[in-house]
Amino acid sequence: MIIHEGFYIHDFPTLKDGKYSCSNCDKKYIRKQDLVRHLNYECGIEPQFSCSYCDLRFKHRFNLKRHIIRSHVK
Ligand SMILES: [Zn+2]
Ligand SMILES: [Zn+2]
Repeated sequence: MIIHEGFYIHDFPTLKDGKYSCSNCDKKYIRKQDLVRHLNYECGIEPQFSCSYCDLRFKHRFNLKRHIIRSHVK
């Protein structure tokens, strides 16, 4: 399973029949509040924290930290 910022990318349950679609990208959401959250926190926001071990980037420092611990620290 691919975990990205806490969501399962390949099986996101609201993608198929979401009523609210983002005008900037192709994401769709069933609940309006989810679209609003997407617009406020995800869409068009450049990830600021880049991993120094690989090419992944993260929007939050704790996500980067968690990624490094899980993927690169042995
Ligand atoms: Zn979007
Ligand atoms: Zn990495």
